Amino acid sequence: MQLPDYAIEARGLVKTYAATKTTPEMQALRGVDLAIPRGSIFGLLGPNGAGKSTFINILAGLCRKTSGTVAIWGRDIDERPRDARAAIGVVPQEIAADPFFTPRESLEVAAGMYAVPPGQRRTMELLTALGLADKAEAYVRQLSGGMKRRLMVAKAMVHNPPVLILDEPTAGVDVELRRQLWNYVLELNRRGVTIVLTTHYLEEAQELCDQIAIINKGQLVACEPTTTLLRRIDTRKVLVTPEEPMTAAPALPGFETHLLSSGGFSVGYRTGHSSVEQVLAAIRKAGLHIKDISTEDPDLEDVFVSLTYAAEPAQA
Ligand code: ADP
Repeated sequence: MQLPDYAIEARGLVKTYAATKTTPEMQALRGVDLAIPRGSIFGLLGPNGAGKSTFINILAGLCRKTSGTVAIWGRDIDERPRDARAAIGVVPQEIAADPFFTPRESLEVAAGMYAVPPGQRRTMELLTALGLADKAEAYVRQLSGGMKRRLMVAKAMVHNPPVLILDEPTAGVDVELRRQLWNYVLELNRRGVTIVLTTHYLEEAQELCDQIAIINKGQLVACEPTTTLLRRIDTRKVLVTPEEPMTAAPALPGFETHLLSSGGFSVGYRTGHSSVEQVLAAIRKAGLHIKDISTEDPDLEDVFVSLTYAAEPAQA
């Protein structure tokens, strides 16, 4: 069988939540075109309420789209819903582990739901890969939060799907555990599994993802290789140490400022619109005396802010 070019392909995807007695109609996705290349580690970023979960819930079959088309692994979700669903594993945001099953039983039940024949189940392989082999017979309620989360990843992989979706996978997970989780995710990717992750950890997306899509208010703001995205961005930051430590960031007209824990502050500016000279002039005009300054290269946080909130958003 020929493999699809795209693990996931959405065209003109719209989702409108109907109005209720207390909430107005809400257009959560406003015509999203998104093609996720097979074999990539793809990051879906966006602020709260951007529409990320809605998108994932449509893929997972938990939410009905209003219009548009979606194919998972080349299988249209309307025409071949079961085949489409069999091609993805979804690790949800919330930990939803059954307290009365052991991890081994939990995976067996999940495999059963996907009709994986007993001879083809990979229960111990998955538990071992996620560092849970010695907990195979423990009760889930005895596992730590991080272990439960790894168990969720194992559960999403029981049917060996070619696409794994992780919805905010490391929220509330400590650094050590995050490493472990990523090691496994990277290993899966090396074996050919396409990874899609939504995250607020922009650094993480920058580090892990080869492609990044940014969504805001139900619309795609950017979608490109991580390196291109970083290169495209024209925001810079000036870090200022004032003579007197400050307790609040100064208001500088036309610039975004943030207080730093050192008592200094940062000033963001766009190279296309202003210069360091203008930043310095604004600081002086505010009556502040500068002890030291340095500049910082853009990271994904800057990309995100600039693409999401800029008056003139870059072309998607
Ligand atoms: P994100 O995951 O990026 O935070 P969501 O997809 O959860 O965004 O939400 C997108 C928008 O749709 C938000 O304004 C949210 O309030 C709204 N929304 C999400 N789920 C529902 C729902 N079940 N009913 C009505 N509105 C919803």
